[in-house]
Amino acid sequence: MLLKRRFDPDALAAWETRRRAAVDGVVAATVKVSGLDADIVRRALEQKFADENGLPTITHVDALHASKTWRPSTGIVERGIAEGWLAIADGRLSVRTAPGTDDVVYRIIRGPGRYCCHCGSTVGSEREARTHVATHDAASPDPNNPAGYLNAAYYECVLEGSSNG
Ligand SMILES: [Zn+2]
Repeated sequence: MLLKRRFDPDALAAWETRRRAAVDGVVAATVKVSGLDADIVRRALEQKFADENGLPTITHVDALHASKTWRPSTGIVERGIAEGWLAIADGRLSVRTAPGTDDVVYRIIRGPGRYCCHCGSTVGSEREARTHVATHDAASPDPNNPAGYLNAAYYECVLEGSSNG
């Protein structure tokens, strides 16, 4: 799913002013020291400012393409919650979209963690995973996970309202 964050316009303008003030003064000196292109230096400094100061207030996100399935990484989910445009509750991820429109809601089919490739069971630790997989006494059915279990760092979701599976 493609998401575009929408910022509060006043907060965004104030944030950009602060960023310009922070970056403008050091671009020339950084270019001189690093020998890098000014555009590259500016982008890096702007990124550093965003990392250190956070983003302006996010009012909502636009779901540009609400696909039937969604596999957001744990990082995206954590960021969405921290930034306030994503909520996780009752086995669902709700994406706050434009004001006056309904949230885009995804049902979580499977959370992050370790899973057996043979039977789909949750297997806790790596040690438990190996012990469990050994009980199947067969090669991994998943060529991408030859150990017989996978460690998913993402949520497996389907769009609420779409048919099961
Ligand atoms: Zn199994």
